[in-house]
Amino acid sequence: MTEILGLHAFDDNYIWLLRAGGYVAVVDPGDAAPVLAYLEKSGDRLCAILATHHHGDHVGGLAELLARFPVPVFGPGLENIPGVSHPLAGGDRIELPEIALQLDIIAVPGHTRGHIAYYGPSLNDHGAVFCGDTLFGAGCGRLFEGTPAQMQDSLAKLAVLPAPTLVYCAHEYTQSNLRFALVVEPGSIAVQRRSENVAKDRAAGRPTIPTSIHSELETNPFLRCEAPAVRAAAASRLGRVPADAVETFAAIREWKNRFQ
Ligand code: ZN
Ligand code: FE
Repeated sequence: MTEILGLHAFDDNYIWLLRAGGYVAVVDPGDAAPVLAYLEKSGDRLCAILATHHHGDHVGGLAELLARFPVPVFGPGLENIPGVSHPLAGGDRIELPEIALQLDIIAVPGHTRGHIAYYGPSLNDHGAVFCGDTLFGAGCGRLFEGTPAQMQDSLAKLAVLPAPTLVYCAHEYTQSNLRFALVVEPGSIAVQRRSENVAKDRAAGRPTIPTSIHSELETNPFLRCEAPAVRAAAASRLGRVPADAVETFAAIREWKNRFQ
C-alpha cells in the first residue's frame, strides 16, 4: 500500500511523496532541502522524481537531488526541463517498481503548454491525481502559456475521474480561491459550507489538500461552467450571455485575475 505524504516548500507549495517499502518517489520538488531532510530523517531511499511542468517552484530542486541520487526523472515531453530522463505525453503509463505503482499520464495544457498530471487509480483505495498547477482547491492555475479552451478541456479531463479521486495539487490556495467562488456563486450552500470548514482548517494550521473531484465538482467555479449560477455570473461580467462553457470559463478566469 502506497502512502502519500506532503512536505511544505516556499510560502504555499506542497511537495508530495509516494512511499512504500522504504522507497519514495517525489512529485514537483521545487526545493531539494525539505526532500533531503525527509530522506535523512526517515532513512527512506529516493526512487524517482516526477515533474508536472517547468516552473521553478516545481523543478528547482531537481539538479541538487539528481547530484545526490541518480534516479529516473519523469516530466512533460513538450517542455524543456534539464534532468528529465523520461519525457512523457498524455496516454502514457509509467511504472515505479520500487513502490509497486503504476501511474497514468494525463495531458493538461493551459497553465503551461506541456503540463501533465499523474493519475494513480490504485492509490488511496479510490485513486489519486497529482495535478500540479492545473486544478486547485476551488480554483485553477493561471493561463501562462495556454488558451482558455485548452485549460477548460484539461479541467474537463480531471473532472471525469471518479468522484472520490483525491486531488493533490501543488499549492495551498483553497481559502483565497473560496473567497472568489463565493462571489461567483453567493447562493451556494456547498461553497458556504466549504468556506467555513476551510477557515477552521487553516486557523488550526491544517492543510486543505488533498481535496476530491467530488468536492471540486460541487464548489469549484472553474469546473462548473455549465451551472446556471456560474453562467449568469459570467454573463454579468461580459454584458451578454456566454456562447459556451469555454467563454464562461474565460470570463471567470479573467475576472479572478483581477479579483482581490
Ligand atoms: Zn506553475
Ligand atoms: Fe506553482
